[in-house]
Parts: sequence; C-alpha cells; structure tokens
Amino acid sequence: MSKIRVTIWNEFRHERKNEGVKKIYPEGLHKAIGTGIACDEFEIRYATLDEPDHGLTDEVLDSTDVLIWWGHAAHAEVRDEIVAKVQQHVWDGMGLICLHSSHMSKIFRLLNGTSGKLHWREVGERERIWCVNPAHPIAAGIPETFVLEHEEMYGEPFCIAWDAQPVFISWFEGGEVFRSGVTFQRGNGRIFYFRPGHEAYRTFYNEMVLRVISNGVRWAAPTLRAPYPKTHREGSYEPISDKGVDFPKAGIILN
Ligand code: ZN
Repeated sequence: MSKIRVTIWNEFRHERKNEGVKKIYPEGLHKAIGTGIACDEFEIRYATLDEPDHGLTDEVLDSTDVLIWWGHAAHAEVRDEIVAKVQQHVWDGMGLICLHSSHMSKIFRLLNGTSGKLHWREVGERERIWCVNPAHPIAAGIPETFVLEHEEMYGEPFCIAWDAQPVFISWFEGGEVFRSGVTFQRGNGRIFYFRPGHEAYRTFYNEMVLRVISNGVRWAAPTLRAPYPKTHREGSYEPISDKGVDFPKAGIILN
C-alpha cells in the first residue's frame, strides 16, 4: 500500500522569537508533530511561512495527500494566491487538518465560509476533552475523555459552518465549553479542525493529541483526487424529447 504523503505547514515564528516556546519546540512545533506521528504509513515533509511560496509550491501541493496547518500571528502574511491554490487542491481531494489558532487562518475561513471567531483566555488552565462520536475513525483508540493539564481556553460560540460535525468537545477549568474537533467536506476534500496546540504548552508531545492527529491524517487522505467536472454535457443517459420551442427566443411559459 502506498504511503500517505503528509506536509506539515507551520508559521514557525514563535519558536524562533520567544525563548520559552523555543525551549518547548526547539526545532519548531511542525517537527514535534512530525516526529510524534511518524510511522510506516506516512511520508512526512515540512513547509514553513518564510520559505519561497511558503514552502507550498505546485510540486509540493501536487504530491501532498494531507496538509496539516498551524498558524497564529502571521495569518495575514500568507499570500492570497497560495491560499487559492491550497483551496483548489482541497476541492480536488487533498485532505486538510487545521490545528489550534488556524481557526483564523485564511484557508480555514475561506473553506469554512465563516469568520472562524471564538472566545479565548490564556492562563494555562485545565482542558478536559470529551469524545462525542466514538464511532468516528478519528476517535479510534481514544478514550471517552482525556485531560490536558495546561492549555489556552477556546470557548463557544465558535463561528463555524453548520455542517461541521463534532467528534470532540472540550470543557475548560474556567467553565467554558468548545467544539474541539470537527469535520466537514468541501468539494472532494475532507477537512478536520482540532483545537489543542497553543505554542506555550507541551501539547504536541501528548500521546492522545498525536493519536488524534494521526487518525485525522488517515481519515482525511483522499478517496478521490480529481477536479470537479466543469464541462458542458452534450449527450444524455436518457432520450430527451424535442420540445419544439426555442425557449430563450420564445420567452413564454408553457404551463
Ligand atoms: Zn494559542
């Protein structure tokens, strides 16, 4: 069986500028995620904001089955033409996993069709994550609930599309709740948003978080990678009777 080709995209700014974050993720959180989900099934590579074309050249996107996205402070610096290319690839079948603050990334908001806004509080509080759809492939091997001792709080209302299907819901020490793991599809492409992953905490070393991301990669891998048909259809499967009227010229209502 061929491997799932995974590209992990990271803004990679906090880890270079902030000493505390650098200590947690010395090589960048993209590398921590990649190391954490590495297995025989995945072929993993990395792309970051400050590379030419943000590391997302046509060649890279053409050979990516699932793109993982982490962005925070520099969403606006992601060039629109690159975002449009990623959107087209998702429409054609590429899987997309948006992590944590990527709820405000251009690509998430574009594909989701909403502002992506939510409430937040950053005091390192406890997060309890509940699996609300244990039959979903992304929940495989995940217990009913697990805890992250320190995380940033994200709270409802979360402005996401109404067709977003929850797999996980979080409860926070301060009392808020949040749809922490949701799936949806745009065109042929499957999209998974997963909430945990603030850069100041060790979230991307957590076994459960990494398992959810791995499951997400398997689930989002393309089942059909092809452009949506866009050509005029000449023939038909069933005979269509001649109506004897040139409708655009006639301008009439028959019945
Ligand atoms: Zn954050």
